[in-house]
Order: sequence, then C-alpha cells, then structure tokens
Amino acid sequence: MSRVYNFSAGPSMLPESVLNRAAEEMLDYKGSGQSVMEMSHRSKVYEDIIFGARELFCELMEIPDNYRVLFLQGGASTQFAAVPLNFMNGSKKADYVLSGQFSTKAYQEAKMYGDVRVVASSKEDNFSRIPDLNKENFTPDADYFYICHNNTIYGTRFSELPDTGDVPLIADISSSFLSEPMDVSKFGMVYGGAQKNVAPAGLTVAIIREDLLGNAREDTPTMLNYKTMAENDSMYNTPPCWSIYMCKLVLEWLKTIGGLPAMRERNVRKAKLLYDYLDQSAMFKNPVLPRDRSVMNVTFVSSGEELDKKFVKEAEAAGFVNLKGHRSVGGMRASIYNAMPAEGVAALVEFMADFEKKHS
Ligand SMILES: *Cc1c(COP(=O)(O)O)cnc(C)c1O
Repeated sequence: MSRVYNFSAGPSMLPESVLNRAAEEMLDYKGSGQSVMEMSHRSKVYEDIIFGARELFCELMEIPDNYRVLFLQGGASTQFAAVPLNFMNGSKKADYVLSGQFSTKAYQEAKMYGDVRVVASSKEDNFSRIPDLNKENFTPDADYFYICHNNTIYGTRFSELPDTGDVPLIADISSSFLSEPMDVSKFGMVYGGAQKNVAPAGLTVAIIREDLLGNAREDTPTMLNYKTMAENDSMYNTPPCWSIYMCKLVLEWLKTIGGLPAMRERNVRKAKLLYDYLDQSAMFKNPVLPRDRSVMNVTFVSSGEELDKKFVKEAEAAGFVNLKGHRSVGGMRASIYNAMPAEGVAALVEFMADFEKKHS
C-alpha cells in the first residue's frame, strides 16, 4: 500500500491511526455485530458515540459550561444563512469583515435578512491580508459581528481578534478548528465544516453561547434553528452518524498526542518549515502579509503560470497531491492541517528545493 501526501484544502487527510481504527471496527463495532454506519442513532451504543464526542470537544477546547456544542449538517455554507436567521433579530444589524471568499458569501447571504454592514475589506489587495479594523466603524448595537478566522483560499488568518465589546463575535473556524487552543469565551459562536480538521465531510460543528439561543426569526426553518438542535441533543432528525463517530476518533487521537497545545506546537513547526523555505527561495514566494500568514493553508507562486503548472504536475507524480491553488487565485496552496505529518511537509520542502535547482 502506498499513501500520498495529500495537501487538499478539504476534504483532507485524516490521521492514519484513526483510519486504521475505523477499519478495525468497520464490521463489528464493539461487539454490536454491526458497523456504525448501520446502527440506529437512538441506540445506547450510538449515544455513547455522540455524547462521547461532545464531551471530548468540551474537554479539548475547554469550552465553558454556558456554551452548547451542536452537531449539524449542510456544511459551513448553510450556516451563512442560519447565523442571520438565528441572531439578526434584535436591531437587525450585523457587522461583517470581508477577508476572503467565504466571508463574502456569508455577507451576501446575511444581506437578505437585515441591515448588514461591511466594516472592513481586503478585496482591493486580493485578500492577501487581513484588513485593518477601526473600532469607530463598528456598529455599537449590532446583533453580532462576523469574521472568518482562517481564510482557506488565500492563506491568511486573524492573529488578533477584534474587540467587539458586548456585541457577540461569530467566527467561521472551518479551516482552523482544533488546530490550536482557542478562548471560546471570546465568542458568541464559532462553527466549522468538519472536513478540514475534524472528520469526514457531512458534519458541521457549532459552539454557541447559551443565552444567544431562542431569539431566531419566526420564519426560521425548524432544521436551521439552533434551539431545535440544542433541545434535541443534535438529534432532532438523523444526525450524520458516521462522521460524528469519525470525529470522536479524531478527538481521541488529539487527546493522546497531548491535546491542542501540542497540536499547535506541531502545526507551527510544520508551517515554519515551509515559510522559511519560501522566504529564502529565488523561485517561489508567499504573497501574504507576513503578520497574517495562516498556519493551516500556505499559498505560494513561482515565477510564472507555466512553471506553476509544471510544478503541480511533477509534484503529483512524486506523491504530493492537490497542490494546485484555488481556481480563483491560481498558483499553489499546501494545506497542512492537523493530520499532515511533519515528514510530509519536510518531504515537500525537499522536493521544492530540488525542483528549484533543476529549473533555475
Ligand atoms: C471549506 C470552507 C467553507 C465551506 O464549507 P462547506 O462545508 O463546504 O460549506 C466555509 N468556510 C471556510 C473557512 C472553509 O474553509
């Protein structure tokens, strides 16, 4: 068996030990005589999985007691509508920071439901930086303030959170979920699609401060109302059972390696290896403002489009797959999420150095 180093932005790599464990348990989960894919979500054996996963989230992220962890479906993109439906029902105003494509999509969706303001945007710089924020522009009576914490496509991330005072801060953390410790108490809600760092696709996890639940617009679809999900332990309807099981295995793996502090250390080391190489390379460069560099998604370009193409092709042949940049920006992107081993990044850097020598 030969496995590639997969640098995909999502779905992405899962820890090999997790995949092995899932394989071992595939046909007969803990003596139940069935796989997790086949069992009733109302069974005791499944309850242990979903509640176990929830508990592990609380433990690893040190989630305060007044927050609820919800297992949802529809991907991060469905939350672009669910967020305004659930929370933009007081002053009906909300502030958005446009730092990339996903926050722009979230903003466009929210515009359908109220008075939504762009407090800052880095579109002019092709989203190669996090825009500067000026507190004077924030709406004091906004129902919430929205950011995308890590910009998957552009390889940027907020290194400092905006100070929004009493206005709840809501963040899309799809591509930074579980990559480092995070002070959940600074947020009204964080959420993310699982397929980057948490589990296979199909699961979306939201962590919401309890007092924000119960204020949804009246026309909010039942399935998009976070209160429905909170009151039914995320099992108002059939949850994405298999993804939640895989999520639990990933969380157990995270715990064995030392939790989020250890994960951050590994991730920072991996990213540094790649950025250090890029910074001294004569062929490749990273287009992002250094202060705002993502630890999860590293974007880079060579001296031209033809060479970019050649690089992606040769890299793939050598077992480094999915390095092509997002179709909207071009160039290359190496997504080095939690499950990408340090050896994978080291091998990529070595490959890039060889490529540079060969083609300069
Ligand atoms: C991948 C991604 C999304 C979209 O997620 P879906 O689950 O495909 O809807 C949204 N936001 C961010 C930051 C992402 O990385």
